[in-house]
Amino acid sequence: MLKIKEITIHNIALPLQETIRMSKVIIEKSNSILVKVKSTDDISGWGEAASSLSMTGESSAGMILALEYIKNEIINKEIESIGEIYELIQRSIYGNYAAKSAIEVALVDLLAKTQKKTFSELIGIKQREELPIIWRIAGAKNETDEAKKMKDDGFSAFKIKVGANTIPEDLSRAENLRRVLGEHIQLTADANAGYSSKDALDLCSKIDGAVLDYMEQPVNGYDVETMKKCNSLMDIPLSADEGIHSQSDLILHKKMDAADGASLKLIKFGGIKALLLAVDYMKEQNMHVNISGKAGDSSVSAATIGHISHVASKLDWFSNVSIQYLADDIIKNPMTIQDGKIILKSGLGLGIEIDENKVEKYKI
Ligand SMILES: [Mg+2]
Repeated sequence: MLKIKEITIHNIALPLQETIRMSKVIIEKSNSILVKVKSTDDISGWGEAASSLSMTGESSAGMILALEYIKNEIINKEIESIGEIYELIQRSIYGNYAAKSAIEVALVDLLAKTQKKTFSELIGIKQREELPIIWRIAGAKNETDEAKKMKDDGFSAFKIKVGANTIPEDLSRAENLRRVLGEHIQLTADANAGYSSKDALDLCSKIDGAVLDYMEQPVNGYDVETMKKCNSLMDIPLSADEGIHSQSDLILHKKMDAADGASLKLIKFGGIKALLLAVDYMKEQNMHVNISGKAGDSSVSAATIGHISHVASKLDWFSNVSIQYLADDIIKNPMTIQDGKIILKSGLGLGIEIDENKVEKYKI
């Protein structure tokens, strides 16, 4: 049994090594909300959710307000099981999925530490040991050289961010990268909903020539009709990301033949249980599964993705974490990426030790 004594909400911006250029967004610093929950036994749990108006519509100011409300509901609550946490958070307020995911993760981290378990032991059964991650190629001038270097470092999956250039330019970037990386590397392109419907159809009618493993979200998440048309124009699988915020979205895409797989994020699903159940549905439907965080997330989110990735029933399109692009992080025991795979720290809960001076330093 644990009793919640204190909840602190931090709004932070971490510096990136390089500016990230996606179709419609340029990210110079990452903005996340961190939640710390403390029990009456003085054990702490941490959770993080990126603020992304383009992905979830939740601003950091809105997330803080939502969390302040939830905080008042759960302070002094006694918690015995993970089921109680899931129910407490999901029933707390309507919507606000990113905000809810941050506090849910913090509570699960705290409960795992209290019960002397790892985060993954508490949320499911381990399905895999190794966690290959995807290297993002986001328009650096020397991107083919960089990709080649990362392949030599052990990375086996790459994702090209497209949509910021003309279609012929993006197609030739994809073709070049395939040539340089060879056929055994998983190479994909992600437009982050950046093309108009007309351009998306044009790109998808030509994309097979680049021999990608899949194409992700060419058009706005709401435009499932164009996704369906795109899918009919390509032989390679189509992935949905910005269009998937719940299992109902997956069912719609599947029924309309508008996606063969999807990228799932905790900030969109609002909770671990909802995300893991969505993966079970995708496995049943033979859909491909990727689990990812938001560009610029810290190690808190990376560890969370890692633990969820260990227990997900399917994960053939691997995981994405972002710590490799940060200029600084907020933990004392940095996680490593070795041979293109994320190595989680052993230890209770998420296995990370937060450097609270760094949290203070990057507060906004
Ligand atoms: Mg994506």
